[in-house]
Amino acid sequence: MASHIVGYPRMGPKRELKFALESFWDGKSGAHDLEKVAKDLKAAIWKQMADAGIKYIPSNTFSYYDQVLDTTAMLGAVPPRYGWNGGEIGFDTYFSMARGNASLPAMEMTKWFDTNYHYIVPELGPDVKFSYASHKAVTEYKEAKALGVETVPVIVGPVSYLLLSKPAKGVEKSFNLLSLLGKIIPVYKEVVTELKAAGATWVQFDEPTLVLDQDSHKLQAFAEAYTELESALSGLNVVIETYFADVPAETYKTLTSLKGISGFGFDLVRGTKTLDLIKSSFPSGKYLFAGVVDGRNIWANDLATSLTTLHSLESIVGKDKLVVSTSCSLLHTSVDLANETKLDSEIKSWFAFAAQKVVEVNALATALSGHKEEAFFDANAAAQDSRKSSPRVNNEAVQKAAAALKGSEHRRATPVSARLDAQQKKLNLPILPTTTIGSFPQTMDLRRVRREYKAKKISQEDYVKAIKEEISKVVKLQEDLDIDVLVHGEPERNDMVEYFGEQMEGIAFTVNGWVQSYGSRCVKPPIIYGDVSRPKAMTVYWSSMAQSMTARPMKGMLTGPVTILNWSFVRVDQPRSETCYQIALAIKDEVEDLEKGGIQVIQIDEAALREGLPLRKSEQAHYLDWAVHSFRITNCGVKDTTQIHTHMCYSNFNDIIHSIIDMDADVITIENSRSDEKLLSVFREGVKYGAGIGPGVYDIHSPRIPTTDEIADRVNKMLAVLETNILWVNPDCGLKTRKYSEVVPALTNMVSAAKLLRTQL
Ligand code: GLN
Ligand code: ZN
Repeated sequence: MASHIVGYPRMGPKRELKFALESFWDGKSGAHDLEKVAKDLKAAIWKQMADAGIKYIPSNTFSYYDQVLDTTAMLGAVPPRYGWNGGEIGFDTYFSMARGNASLPAMEMTKWFDTNYHYIVPELGPDVKFSYASHKAVTEYKEAKALGVETVPVIVGPVSYLLLSKPAKGVEKSFNLLSLLGKIIPVYKEVVTELKAAGATWVQFDEPTLVLDQDSHKLQAFAEAYTELESALSGLNVVIETYFADVPAETYKTLTSLKGISGFGFDLVRGTKTLDLIKSSFPSGKYLFAGVVDGRNIWANDLATSLTTLHSLESIVGKDKLVVSTSCSLLHTSVDLANETKLDSEIKSWFAFAAQKVVEVNALATALSGHKEEAFFDANAAAQDSRKSSPRVNNEAVQKAAAALKGSEHRRATPVSARLDAQQKKLNLPILPTTTIGSFPQTMDLRRVRREYKAKKISQEDYVKAIKEEISKVVKLQEDLDIDVLVHGEPERNDMVEYFGEQMEGIAFTVNGWVQSYGSRCVKPPIIYGDVSRPKAMTVYWSSMAQSMTARPMKGMLTGPVTILNWSFVRVDQPRSETCYQIALAIKDEVEDLEKGGIQVIQIDEAALREGLPLRKSEQAHYLDWAVHSFRITNCGVKDTTQIHTHMCYSNFNDIIHSIIDMDADVITIENSRSDEKLLSVFREGVKYGAGIGPGVYDIHSPRIPTTDEIADRVNKMLAVLETNILWVNPDCGLKTRKYSEVVPALTNMVSAAKLLRTQL
């Protein structure tokens, strides 16, 4: 029985690639140093998989930045502005596309399906001249071969590549990207031919767009592309890999009836319906790459259950055609549990990171061929049992409270317009009130104080003193700027999720559990392993301290349940909604404690609400329903006079605007500065919005300082479609990544713009 891994993290167990990249970009080391680190990382991964007994080991899943950008390089599809003149694409051109250079911005980046990985979006149009311009797939194959490891080169498939692209500047939005298939297939043929010549016997095409909603146009293009490739593929085994969801029935039919393809890979963790499709029909003589080990999470596989699934598949596809695999690339999980020194052994036994998942895949394959490693399976079963019954996972009171939520929608009793009136009587704000989103610049000193406190190098007393000083500086600054609703600046927080996660029960943190987000950027998601509760107040101390420093309203600042959920690794033994409700209850307690502590305005950030939207339309309504409900739970218990704000980062709200309204917040601030038009069009089209709204008036991601006129201009545009009395004036997002030298003039201009407009209304 064979085993296969779809793809592997590139960063290295201790983020070696990140540091090598950043040092290269900073000019502190040369191309050779970077290549050496890459070479060692690749060699270590191949060796590890070979040692583990994996038969189909991937190559070309390493990347200096991103696999879609690698494909753009392979196809020579460099946007002309980067001045590439042909030849093999080197670091210069490659990193200019990825990160921009002194004179040019980077190409756009966007989320890879519903993961937190971001890819560089290809820009294509009818005039792009494709050519074979990066031989990376072949080079990597040879590199592994030279080490004695036979690999399966992995390439982003032609259909997914085009569907993940966007029309280049100047090309009509309606341009049919798939019309370029005829132009890119010849390059794919060259690559495949060269791989064959180098000795490759298998190649893997990743076509994850096949899991998206069915579309006959796409399917037809897909069938045509692979028929066209057929001649070049002869003599080579080909696996088409899909992942992240079920494959729709019609897609499954088209896919599995392709000639010239030897095997099909499916995500059987998220694709339980695909399992039924396979059971009802699978083409004889083809390989099934059964993705039973979850690449999207850090949980140890339930080996006994997987084995049962695999046995049932074996009887359908035949013993020699079943390949045990991962559900998707392991890119989306942490690298190696061996480096977790701070997790206690019980919790650790519940986890498997990429390195451990490789071992699991092999153990399943070995078991299927009749050589079950009993001790390994027994240990796994024991860990599964310990997790199910552990008191650290189960908190009866929390379970009861969550169960009791059913039956209510948790809506505040008074409608928003009346609430806003009641709040205004207390807050007495001017029209076009000004505020900020929460964080103020995080200076080196501040980071040092937090680090030293965590490492117990400074006393609690000194820590409190330092943070208090910082808050008081931020309060004073906002008063001087004449901002209406203040924030404390979040100096005590390293990260908006981690800060809360660390104070809640049922959530664990790793030391090295990094996952690539984009380029050299990694995140270390918290792990929600048990019922979540809040032993004591988390923010009240700092917020009431801040409120005591000013007569103006001070916003309490919380991260919402949906965002905590979406930025974490979440337990899989209960629905995500259940976990979200538990977090909502913990945040609800915090909201009510803040209110008791004299805080009149409370912001509950739901920066990541949009991110959790399922890929398939049929599942979106359900998600939005429980996500929005979770948000309402957090604040349904406050007085009418307590003003609830929320903040969202993503600018693409148009399709979820009704859910946003359904959140029933008193005020929402949203990231908007890069797409005024898009957002405003919703309101122009007649969507009624009665609550307060603050579309960001300038982009905090850029060091640029907006002028008063420009801000006033934008606010005026908003006033054309929104009622004067609901509009707020605020930046796009938190200010923590900016410098004070940028923040002070930008906010000065923002307040001047609001004042200027007030005189004109
Ligand atoms: N309150 C947070 C901040 O200002 C919000 C951050 C976010 O939306 N990503 O930093
Ligand atoms: Zn934001």
